[in-house]
Amino acid sequence: MEKREFLKASGVIMASGLLPHFISGEQQIQTGRNWAGNYQYRAQLCEVPQSLEELQKLVRRAKKLKALGARHSFNAVADSQQNQISLEHFKQIEILGEEGSEATSATVAAGLRYGQLCPYLDRHGYALHNLASLPHITVAGACATGTHGSGSKNGNLASAVSSLEMVVASGEVISLSRAHDGERFQGAVVGLGGLGVLTKITLALQPSFSMGQVVYQNLSFDRLEDHLDEIFASGYSVSLFTDWQRHRATEIWIKRRSESGTSIQWEDQFFGATKAQQKLHPIAEHPAESCTEQLGIVGPWYERLPHFRLNFTPSSGNELQSEFFVPRDRGYEAILAVEKLKDQISPHLFISELRTIAADDFWLSPCYQRPSLAIHFTWKPEWRAVKQLLPVIENSLAPFDARPHWAKLFTISPLRLKQLYAKLPEYRSLANEYDAGGKFRNPFLDRNIFAS
Ligand SMILES: Cc1cc2nc3c(=O)[nH]c(=O)nc-3n(C[C@H](O)[C@H](O)[C@H](O)COP(=O)(O)OP(=O)(O)OC[C@H]3O[C@@H](n4cnc5c(N)ncnc54)[C@H](O)[C@@H]3O)c2cc1C
Repeated sequence: MEKREFLKASGVIMASGLLPHFISGEQQIQTGRNWAGNYQYRAQLCEVPQSLEELQKLVRRAKKLKALGARHSFNAVADSQQNQISLEHFKQIEILGEEGSEATSATVAAGLRYGQLCPYLDRHGYALHNLASLPHITVAGACATGTHGSGSKNGNLASAVSSLEMVVASGEVISLSRAHDGERFQGAVVGLGGLGVLTKITLALQPSFSMGQVVYQNLSFDRLEDHLDEIFASGYSVSLFTDWQRHRATEIWIKRRSESGTSIQWEDQFFGATKAQQKLHPIAEHPAESCTEQLGIVGPWYERLPHFRLNFTPSSGNELQSEFFVPRDRGYEAILAVEKLKDQISPHLFISELRTIAADDFWLSPCYQRPSLAIHFTWKPEWRAVKQLLPVIENSLAPFDARPHWAKLFTISPLRLKQLYAKLPEYRSLANEYDAGGKFRNPFLDRNIFAS
């Protein structure tokens, strides 16, 4: 295998169909709504630079600017009072390695989506450690918000980042790495787009691997009381779905690696839950066609780690999402606290998902220095009701110091956020250093990060 490679996106990546909102080649486009359609961006235009030099010029010139990824956030985190900027033309991939040894990392341009990157890595014999539930999102947007998959030993997607490059407010290009920039790097990776426009990210690679996933049905919550860690450690990645009714997980998705590349052992019963005999969607009423392969069929890592397939609508489509991260060792208590609200929650809920994530050191990561259990809600598109419910859920989870997912819907006060994210003041200082005039700040950051 060639050890050092450089590939232009056009040669590798199936761009058409993936980018429905952008008119390729034009420098400015109209802004629109986010993927779920629940948020109309206030930004006037979205700039679409073709080169680093053009990007630098646009950043220098702008008064207010915010990078936009694949628009999958549910709130105003990616919005701007003036213009947004999309790096959809930035799609290079460079696999890095010493001559004569396996590659250990890849530098990817900030416009790439996981669905574009992963098949390329796999073709060259490499894998990432984990993926979110969908491949449609950009690497830059996912890392900037602390996006995660599942797996008690797996950090969030940003934990694969070893260095990054960004254009800061002055137009200067700066690089930060885990090896050389210590704390500053930890502050910048989950950066919410508030420090600059990321142009390149270097990600740790591992040799490509095969996986299978099996879905079990109806796991009593009673089994979580004494076996929560064991259940979440029973696969490389484990997700429990619940409607909060009948004190049970309706589905348990277990994703295991296949060391042989061909087969995996699966038990017929899992803590009293039964192995499904047909493919299932997490939301029982939805057809399973949009989901990745199940029934233990072994396949490539990037077609098993996400729940949803690239060319299909992930999840429900017309929906809202919220998610809260609690310390894993108090996970069962936190689940019971939410369960008490089931009669308020269920009428507005498509489904909830419970996942585990390893601790990391990124200042604004919801998993900062805390092995976490994430309690996720896929809501029906009923914002008026969800807005009333969120403070009720947040209050119930307050004793667990629940931290919100930055890209989903929450109502936690700025003062409380400051208590939950101990390094928030340091992040503010870093932002002031790179962006003294607040070019990359927007009302979301002004309220949640800079107000308290
Ligand atoms: C159906 C669905 C399923 C989801 N599943 C998961 C899941 O499994 N796990 C999970 O944790 N989250 C999940 N999410 C949330 C999603 O991962 C986040 O919203 C993520 O940030 C989306 O990435 P994006 O490319 O769409 O970024 P956007 O939403 O466009 O932007 C998000 C943030 O990234 C910043 N950003 C984007 N590009 C750059 C750049 N080049 N430089 C600097 N900043 C940048 C933006 O300014 C903004 O602050 C899901 C969302 C949806 C809609």
